[in-house]
Amino acid sequence: MFNKILIANRGEIACRIIDTAHRMGIQCVAVYSEADRNARHVALADEAFLLGPAPSKDSYLKSDLILQIAKQSGAQAIHPGYGFLSENADFARACESNNIEFIGPPASAIDSMGSKSAAKSIMESANVPLVPGYHGDDQSRELIKNEANRCGYPVLLKAVAGGGGKGMRVVWQESEFDEAFNAARREGESSFGNGDLLVEKYLTKPRHVELQVFADKSGHAVYLADRDCSVQRRHQKVIEEAPAPDIPEDIRCAMGQAAIQAARAINYVGAGTVEFLYDEDGSFYFMEMNTRLQVEHPVSELITRQDLVEWQLRVAAGEDLPLAQEQIQVEGHAIEVRVYAEDPDNDFLPATGTLKYLRTPTENRHVRVDTGVIEGDEVSIYYDPMIAKLIVWDESRDQALSRMSSALKDYQICGLTTNLNFLSNLVQAPAFKAFDVDTGFIEKNQNVLFGEADHNQHQSIALAACYLTLDKKRRSSNPQDPTSPFNQLNNWRLNSSCAHPYELVHGDNSYQVNVLELANGFEITLNNTTYEVKGKLEAEQLTATLNGHQFSVSVFQDGQELTLFQDGHTFTCQRHVEMFGEHEDDTAGSLCAPMNGTVVAILKEPGSKVEAGEGLIVIEAMKMEQTIAAPYEGTVTELFYQPGDLVNEGSELLALTPVSENNSADGDA
Ligand code: ADP
Repeated sequence: MFNKILIANRGEIACRIIDTAHRMGIQCVAVYSEADRNARHVALADEAFLLGPAPSKDSYLKSDLILQIAKQSGAQAIHPGYGFLSENADFARACESNNIEFIGPPASAIDSMGSKSAAKSIMESANVPLVPGYHGDDQSRELIKNEANRCGYPVLLKAVAGGGGKGMRVVWQESEFDEAFNAARREGESSFGNGDLLVEKYLTKPRHVELQVFADKSGHAVYLADRDCSVQRRHQKVIEEAPAPDIPEDIRCAMGQAAIQAARAINYVGAGTVEFLYDEDGSFYFMEMNTRLQVEHPVSELITRQDLVEWQLRVAAGEDLPLAQEQIQVEGHAIEVRVYAEDPDNDFLPATGTLKYLRTPTENRHVRVDTGVIEGDEVSIYYDPMIAKLIVWDESRDQALSRMSSALKDYQICGLTTNLNFLSNLVQAPAFKAFDVDTGFIEKNQNVLFGEADHNQHQSIALAACYLTLDKKRRSSNPQDPTSPFNQLNNWRLNSSCAHPYELVHGDNSYQVNVLELANGFEITLNNTTYEVKGKLEAEQLTATLNGHQFSVSVFQDGQELTLFQDGHTFTCQRHVEMFGEHEDDTAGSLCAPMNGTVVAILKEPGSKVEAGEGLIVIEAMKMEQTIAAPYEGTVTELFYQPGDLVNEGSELLALTPVSENNSADGDA
């Protein structure tokens, strides 16, 4: 076995490989780009080397530099992960000629599967079933059109060098052929430098079913069950499960055998995936073979209780496969979702930003999180915006689905747009639960998958107001002086009523909310609805009862924005701070923190009467002190922060009751 390997990748897959390697006592060398200096994979590795600037071509694709680092660091093998150099036959060959083991198949096998048309020819000779179509060398438009007509419409045009769903066009009728042909050819040329096309019968309700295969250098080959990856957006996988549901046992075995034939046909070694289209009538057709470890390999690991990275390392080191076919047992059901920084409501547009707040479900025998990021990390424009893979296992598909729903509730992210709400909707969609699934699933079930769930906005707004009030009260308590009246969480206030007005905005709706303190809780009123509320705030966790209905909500506050995580759904609202209406104007300043900082001094204690312009509180931010002055004449009635407290930009710092209200309050007292 190797003592040291280099991992030519980043993110979750680099971390996942390091985990297994360390468990096997193998040292890991990481490589990283300038954008990844503080990345999790770098921190986990035993050594790490800088490759260059953020763009992949200047870093993770620099094969010569990576080989040089492998030699310099004494790594005996390179694990390419997936993506980047993993299916680059030249890189595999360069490793070979430098006496470094490439943890993957031989270069010749990568070459054979590199072109979709060449792969189909090889599979045809190996008697692996193919979708009817044409994949020959003659690339004239007339010939390909004739072949399309012969297949019968609809047909699919594919760039032979394509991947990742690019370079594909569905043609529904002959009149659309020319335009689709030109578009697929252009996309093939621009994305893969090769405009050659193949044509296939387009199956209208297929499933994507794939087989995990493994082969060793002594010629043994096995398959580790199958996976269903039919739920796709833009021909890319969103959710994967194993074993593939609803496949008769004899067909399952036939697919396994076909996958092994496919692997043998190209003298395969290592981990590979043979992808099939599975038609409604139980027929299946070879689509392509991926010559690497797949993103979705964990679902196969969980149902077979094997570590596929360990298998890869053993096979690469020359050992035989750990198990024979008859020793591979399948147990239970596993499901994986890909948590992405993207906007499902905007055509799954990739999103970027900082993971300002990140909570993940607790990992155990049923729940696994594969990730390469921690709170505070940035999802940049440079790499795939996948944040993590969330994988669950249980004895049945139904139980696994309910595990997934709960785990998704515990996955909480703020700071960028994610597909978490969409994934929650997806695993709860009746058609998904009933496995009424084919590759058109997302399109067919749009009405239940997109947009905000049917959510009670009033309740969420009331919870947000409850949080703001409790947080304010927590801030106003002075830990240094337990006897201080300002530390008592009762409704005692100097010269002020016990009402807390807020304006909260959610989407296009703006809510005027009033929180009134009662002896034993709050009364929260918004839009003519009144809630009797009792609430408790512990760190970021709010437990509140609204009219007898108890809620448990995590809250993240970022400036004026509040995010509530409640039962698998994320609710965001903005606080509109204009508490002092006519008293406040642009020149008079504000009682809110101008930026994130630390409170360094309190200049006026509660009860102090102040003139407009007098200093109230001092904040230090970015090594500069800033005094917050009274925007109008009044009385300081409450302090929400103490010296040493951190404040977020936009947080209200203290309550200053204007002089006119003082008078009436004095009158009441
Ligand atoms: P890529 O290499 O770009 O990922 P694939 O050939 O693997 O392309 O196809 C990606 C997806 O496109 C499949 O998972 C399937 O959903 C769909 N697809 C591919 N070929 C066909 C076909 N002949 N009929 C219907 N759908 C297809």
